[in-house]
Amino acid sequence: MTPVALITGASRGIGRAIALRLAREGYAVVLNYRQNEAAAEETAQILQALGADGMLCQADVTDEAAVREMVAAVEARYGHIDLLVNNAGIAEQALFTDLSAARWKRMLDVHVNGAFYAASAVLPGMIRRKSGAIINIASMWGETGGSCEVHYSTAKAALIGFTKALAKEVGPSGIRVNCVSPGAVDTDMMAGFSAEDKAALASDTPLGRLGKPEEIAAAVAFLASNDASFITGQILSPNGGLVI
Ligand code: NAP
Repeated sequence: MTPVALITGASRGIGRAIALRLAREGYAVVLNYRQNEAAAEETAQILQALGADGMLCQADVTDEAAVREMVAAVEARYGHIDLLVNNAGIAEQALFTDLSAARWKRMLDVHVNGAFYAASAVLPGMIRRKSGAIINIASMWGETGGSCEVHYSTAKAALIGFTKALAKEVGPSGIRVNCVSPGAVDTDMMAGFSAEDKAALASDTPLGRLGKPEEIAAAVAFLASNDASFITGQILSPNGGLVI
C-alpha cells in the first residue's frame, strides 16, 4: 500500500522540498497551502513529472473546519494518512513592545493551533490503524529564543513541548511524533533579511553557510522512515552547528 503524507505549507520553501523528497521515497503526497495557488500548482507539476501521486489541498491551518474538511477529503481519496508534517509557518520580526495582541495571536494560531487542528484530525485514523507518524517543524529560535521574534520563538517552543507530550500519549498506539528544528534556511521566509544579515548568519554558523530546504527535507525523510522506528519525542536540529 502506498504510504500517504500530508504536508502543510507545501507550496514553497521547506514544505515543497519535503514534498519532493517524500515523493522520491514513494509516498503519495498531499500538498496543503494557504493562498499561493501558482506556487502550489508548480510544486504539483514537479511531482507529476517525477511520476508521483498526490493532490493539492487549499486550507488555512488556522481554520479548524477547513483542516477537518481537508483531512476528510484525503481520507476519502486514499483511505489513510500515514504521515503528517506540520510545516506551515509565518515569520515576522518586531520589537516585543510593538507587538499587538492580534499579531501575537496570529503567530500562535498558525504554528500551534494549526498543528493542533491537523494532528487532531489525522490521529483518530492513525490510532485506529495503530500506526503513523507526525513531524512538527519548529525552529532553532524555539530552542534558544530569538530577539525581536518573541512571538515566533514562543510558538516554536510550544511546538517542541507539543511534540514531546504527544509522543508520550500516542506512543502506546504505535504512533511516533518528532520535531525537526532548522537553523537559518534560504527560503522566502528570509526575504526580509538583507544580504549583509544573511552573510552574518552564515558566518555565525560553524558550517559557514545557510541551510538548503533539501537538507531539512532529508531530516524529515529520516524521521519518517523505518530507520527511525525507535525514535519518538525527539528534536532533530539541522542547523549547521549554529545551536549546539
Ligand atoms: P516559506 O517559504 O515562507 O513558506 C511558508 C509555507 O507555509 C507556504 O507554503 C505557505 O503557503 C504556508 N502557510 C503559511 N501560512 C499558512 C496557513 N495559515 N495555512 C496553510 N499554509 C500556510 O517558509 P519556509 O522557510 O519554507 O518555512 C517552512 C517552515 O519552516 C515554517 O514552519 C518555518 O517557521 C520553519 N522554519 C524556517 C526557517 C527558515 O530559515 N526558512 C528556519 C526554521 C524554521 P502559501 O504559499 O499559500 O502562502
